[in-house]
Amino acid sequence: MMSMFCLRSRVIAMNKELNNNNLMAVCKRRGFIWPSFEIYGGVAGMFDYGPLGSNMRNNIVEVWRDIYKRREGFIEIDSETVNPREVFKASGHVDEFADLVAYCTKCGSAFRADHLVKEFFDNPDVLSPEELDAAFVKYGVKCPECDGRLGPTEEFNLMFKTTIGPGSARVGYLRPETAQGIFVNYPNLYRYNREKLPLGVMQTGRGYRNEIAPRQGMIRMREFNMMEVELFVDPDDKDWGRFREIKNNSITLVPNTGSAAMTMTVGDAVGKGIIANRVLAYFVYTTQQLLVRLGIDPERLRFRQHLCDEMAHYAADCWDAEVLLSFGWVEITGIADRGCWDLSRHAEFSGTELTHFRKFDEPREMEIDKIKAKHRNLGPKFKDKAKIIAEAMETKHPSDVKNGILVLNIDGEDTAVTGEFFEIVRVREKVSGERVIPHVIEPSHGLDRIFYSVLEHAFDYDKDKDYAVLRLAPEVAPIKVGIFPLMEKDRLDTMALEIYAAVHSSHTEAYYDGSGTIGKRYARMDEIGTPWCITVDYESLEGPQKGTVTIRDRDTSAQKRIPADSVSETIRSLLSGVSFNDL
Ligand code: AMP
Repeated sequence: MMSMFCLRSRVIAMNKELNNNNLMAVCKRRGFIWPSFEIYGGVAGMFDYGPLGSNMRNNIVEVWRDIYKRREGFIEIDSETVNPREVFKASGHVDEFADLVAYCTKCGSAFRADHLVKEFFDNPDVLSPEELDAAFVKYGVKCPECDGRLGPTEEFNLMFKTTIGPGSARVGYLRPETAQGIFVNYPNLYRYNREKLPLGVMQTGRGYRNEIAPRQGMIRMREFNMMEVELFVDPDDKDWGRFREIKNNSITLVPNTGSAAMTMTVGDAVGKGIIANRVLAYFVYTTQQLLVRLGIDPERLRFRQHLCDEMAHYAADCWDAEVLLSFGWVEITGIADRGCWDLSRHAEFSGTELTHFRKFDEPREMEIDKIKAKHRNLGPKFKDKAKIIAEAMETKHPSDVKNGILVLNIDGEDTAVTGEFFEIVRVREKVSGERVIPHVIEPSHGLDRIFYSVLEHAFDYDKDKDYAVLRLAPEVAPIKVGIFPLMEKDRLDTMALEIYAAVHSSHTEAYYDGSGTIGKRYARMDEIGTPWCITVDYESLEGPQKGTVTIRDRDTSAQKRIPADSVSETIRSLLSGVSFNDL
């Protein structure tokens, strides 16, 4: 049997000369992925998942759940995809989430302005509109479609705008990321977590970005799927218990200091200050575990730190998981330390306190600001209600005062009180804790990019034989087992269908195929990455092998006989990691 190393080298060699059309052709023909609205000519950057693609995508999500939900104990939510404008005003997306577009003055085509000058600059996406216009002139950049002159570069917000309800009363946007749905639910989530940190929350779902120039198939889509994780931590406790378990494991990093890619232990990366803190480092490594488990080749995976001027408006530090694809290194996951940006902004814009109460081990004497009622002024104005208003005031925090006004709820009614009735005083008191704004660590996984990268790394095409095998990890493969009768007659088909029903009822995806030669049926299963095939032959019906079937392994083509009534159990144990050789 070929060693794993040999196999990997062969896969790498083949992928080097990978004809991308072959993989996309297989994906389309076999029902992994279809261009959307094809009968109407399609729309750039939009794709539908076919039956095999949906299965495989769900399997990827399950691995992500296994790691974050079952291993790390995070909680999962599912929030709305249409959000009111306020959410994205607070998050910064209304003002900041834009790319620069250049239109051709002759044919009107639109282009990502930075992409047009990428051969002249190391980091063109930091250039201003004026700098880009100057670069078009300096380097003689013309419209790639018609050679026309490019017009002034302008900002183009990538969010899809809509209205909520009839008319235009309430502006909404399709979310460009799932993260905001988690931030705006912070009070509910914090309560659910019994007011404790760390609080890990995950969400998978659609994000929408009106990309100027979608290209490279599933890499830049206008509607795409994300698996996002927001981990709320105490800003003074950026550590993670399990860090110890992984600190000696290796990771390949490209820091933003200009040095080349270097492989080092996660512990060293933190020790040398390359990754800012242990919790960020832990989730960079967790991303590596996730991607490798899904089938990304570790030799074609690296983590690149964002350059300071490349960092998103919210990020304090950010690392991209990049994979090497047939068209170069591509970001498939971003792991960011978002600091307190999100919660502070939503607190400011919504007027809701979004904090964590950090309890001290022992009560401490501290100077704190408090609201104190001005009884002298309250009495004449509020008469017999003055006492109750004074009491309500003193339960409030100075941060509750907005524009000099304090809103109190008295007997179920809101009462606004102006500054002449209270003052903010500094006192020394014994306090049991203090309020802090949690920081957020976010591993944000692009599901479609991961899906495509896994396919590309698994695609093993033998040009000479014109034979394609998708060497997918069994837990990712859309179909786990093909079940064939040698011939569709003589009760072979009945027995195969019985096995098929038993496997399906054990919640394992199986595919029954009775047509064509056995070789063709194996080839059909190899092409879609099915790890094992079962064949019912005449020996299954009578003779010394009666009651047994053959099982074939995709990667080695090795075959064995196993009892027909143990197929479901055998597939389950193979899926749980038992080796085919040990059957
Ligand atoms: P970002 O919030 O820009 O860091 O995006 C998070 C992840 O979503 C990226 O790492 C990508 O994998 C994925 N992603 C972002 N934009 C797109 C897009 N237009 N099409 C497909 N995936 C995307």
